[in-house]
Amino acid sequence: MQSETDTQRTRGQELPQPRLGNIQQSLPRAGESTRCRFCQSELQHTFVDLGMSPLCENYLTAEQLNQMEPFFPLHVHVCHRCFLVQLPEYVSPEHIFSEYAYYSSYSDSWLQHARRYVDQMVERFGIDKRSFVIEIASNDGYLLQYLLQRGIPSLGIEPAANIAAVASEKGIPTLVRFFGLDSAQQLAAEGRQATLLLGNNVLSQVPDINDFVAGMRVLLKPQGVITMEFPHLMKLMVENQFDTIYHEHFSYFSFLTAEAIFAAHGLTLFDVDELPTHGGSLRIYARHKEDGTKAISPRVQALRIQEERFGLTCLESYSSFAEQVHETKRRLLKFLIQTKRSGKIIVGYGAPGKGNTLLNYCAIGRDFLDYTVDRSPFKQGKFLPGTHIPIFHPDRIKQTHPDYVLILPWNLKGEIMQQMSYVREWDGKFVVPIPTVKVYS
Ligand SMILES: [Zn+2]
Repeated sequence: MQSETDTQRTRGQELPQPRLGNIQQSLPRAGESTRCRFCQSELQHTFVDLGMSPLCENYLTAEQLNQMEPFFPLHVHVCHRCFLVQLPEYVSPEHIFSEYAYYSSYSDSWLQHARRYVDQMVERFGIDKRSFVIEIASNDGYLLQYLLQRGIPSLGIEPAANIAAVASEKGIPTLVRFFGLDSAQQLAAEGRQATLLLGNNVLSQVPDINDFVAGMRVLLKPQGVITMEFPHLMKLMVENQFDTIYHEHFSYFSFLTAEAIFAAHGLTLFDVDELPTHGGSLRIYARHKEDGTKAISPRVQALRIQEERFGLTCLESYSSFAEQVHETKRRLLKFLIQTKRSGKIIVGYGAPGKGNTLLNYCAIGRDFLDYTVDRSPFKQGKFLPGTHIPIFHPDRIKQTHPDYVLILPWNLKGEIMQQMSYVREWDGKFVVPIPTVKVYS
């Protein structure tokens, strides 16, 4: 945060100011240390440093291409005490999430995932019309719509007003705000505690993890169930998914660390599913520590052992990750350079956040990719942050017949290769960059 003296000095000099908008940085000043957001230990160890990057959802208009663009560090640390892998809060969540361009309903496979989840919860926990389901970061109502169809009362909590408005139009009650202890206490006081409290891909986006988990405990009925899905740190390391690191993701969890955080707030993880979503996620099931009605599944102990064997309780396993990332960059660039030298045309598919981390870290611009395409009309006509690659409607690929299509949302590669199978009509090929560059002809 800028001190008053600094502000005055800058004003006094009347220097042209970079266009930072309302971005607030809440970083320690030089000489101060950054502390673990869970256990408060001083962060002394690097997990990986991806250099400087713009906010990955900050798609640019043509006019903005000629303006200055803010870049922030993507330097990820690991805590030597609780092993929480984390990014300091380089950018405030208010800035990132208040107007967000990610609409969950644009992915068919994600919608199917949400529908299956609802079917499973209804069956396993007897969720019905007498229940009350709350989803934190409910996005555009991609999941709660399936509860609405069954007549089960639900509430969404979503900080991005533009996205919450889409959910409200579908008839899904949605509170526009950030979730934490304050909002939980308010809802609980109104008698609106949850039978089922869920959050998909939100835990990693929370800067104050203790406030958030404490809030979940308050919002949960005595025999209620919490489910949270988040990308599994072990998968990120094994599958080399460094491109899922971006400013929006403040924390990267192993099961062991997640368990420690929930336990610190009186919540017990009683089951866990390993899911294929987002390259490998965990769905954890939590209950109040005092709730004796749900036994702890053997899957909990099995995963603890698996993580320990992989080395997630020793610092050395974390410090070898960075070199693996550097080598991935060299290999991808080698492929792109050789392909361009042979006169081929390469374009991108998708404009996901992870694509922007990859392209910025590897410095891949229009010198390699002519353009990318995306199904979301909110992204079409805009440009990728940092690299300024233009985003078109997917039909552009049919019109221009590129030799290679680089799939940026690699977690959806099966779905995308199926949708785009017509590229084979002109002998086009797909390329997937992660875990290591691979061509599918
Ligand atoms: Zn820690």
